[in-house]
Amino acid sequence: MRDRSIPANGPVGGSYAARYGHLDLFHDVDLDAISELLDTAQEIDIPAGHTVLEEGAFNDAIHIILDGELDVRLGAVNAAPLLSLGVGACVGELSILSQLNVSAYVVAVRESHLLVIQDDLLWSIIGASHEFAGNLLKVLSGRVRDNNNRLTVSINAQERFARASRVDSITGLFNRHWLDEVLERQRSRCAAEGRTFSLILIDIDHFKRINDRYGHLVGDDALKTIASHLHNCTRPIDLAARFGGDEFAVLLPGVGISEAKFIGERMRAEIEQDDVLCSFGGLRLTVSLGIAELDTHDSAQDLLYKADRALYEAKHRGRNCAVSASELQPIALA
Ligand code: GH3
Ligand code: MG
Repeated sequence: MRDRSIPANGPVGGSYAARYGHLDLFHDVDLDAISELLDTAQEIDIPAGHTVLEEGAFNDAIHIILDGELDVRLGAVNAAPLLSLGVGACVGELSILSQLNVSAYVVAVRESHLLVIQDDLLWSIIGASHEFAGNLLKVLSGRVRDNNNRLTVSINAQERFARASRVDSITGLFNRHWLDEVLERQRSRCAAEGRTFSLILIDIDHFKRINDRYGHLVGDDALKTIASHLHNCTRPIDLAARFGGDEFAVLLPGVGISEAKFIGERMRAEIEQDDVLCSFGGLRLTVSLGIAELDTHDSAQDLLYKADRALYEAKHRGRNCAVSASELQPIALA
């Protein structure tokens, strides 16, 4: 790096107005009036790849780009750039004004030429020129706005990722991960309020045959068709999820076992009567259902176990039917 102090008798290569007048920070600033202050500033050359500011390090100067380009990088000096800065932009002002260490790496992307103003000189210029102070405020408010925009983009991305982790990409229904969380929440809420709550597990009959005969894409269409039936057969407060593979779950808050059986039977009949639309026409599907109601001391796992046992019985009875746990011999749950 080559330091070139500006000689005390004036700027290198023309007046300060000619050299700095186009920079945002000096917009409308009477540069002749602060020329003696600027005489003590420095211009430096920075080779490509050189680190101008180091994250976490102390900094006592603002650097204004006269020529070249600087990258701002977070976390590591070789991280992907957060932003690129060109002529007129400045770095280091936040660490001076906040008196905190530098919050990012600043690296020269190509050979750059910078005007360096030490903190005591910066405060002197702020004191001598309202216009300069105003320009600095504009730079700072632009930084705050940029950071807010970046924060909004990052929050939106986080929400998208969070949603993707809860939603099944084929059917658009919630997934097993989501169901496990919600099942426990519903259970404790219903238990606390003394309300009842039922769970229906739905499994497509001989689904493997559909995949084997018609291919996985048709199988996926079948999953979507079932999902839309579940959606149609439930109230807005009911919660439907893809439990995994060809199995689905519907939570029915406030619904007891006999009403749940009625709802399950309606789902079964509707699915049996409808076609899965695929490239070669319509395809008939049936489902088996296992239904269980939350008992006072049941955990979420107990409820799942009872519904699964009822579903197993529905398969055993020949499929295309709904069985409720209350029809089975009770067994002691551990
Ligand atoms: P049963 O009547 O006893 O339920 O028989 P089944 O053939 O439906 O049961 P099995 O569990 O043997 O088959 C489930 C099939 O679901 C096997 C697997 O290939 C298929 N499957 C699981 N996930 C997907 C998926 O995302 N898309 C498709 N197309 N098929 C899937
Ligand atoms: Mg199946």
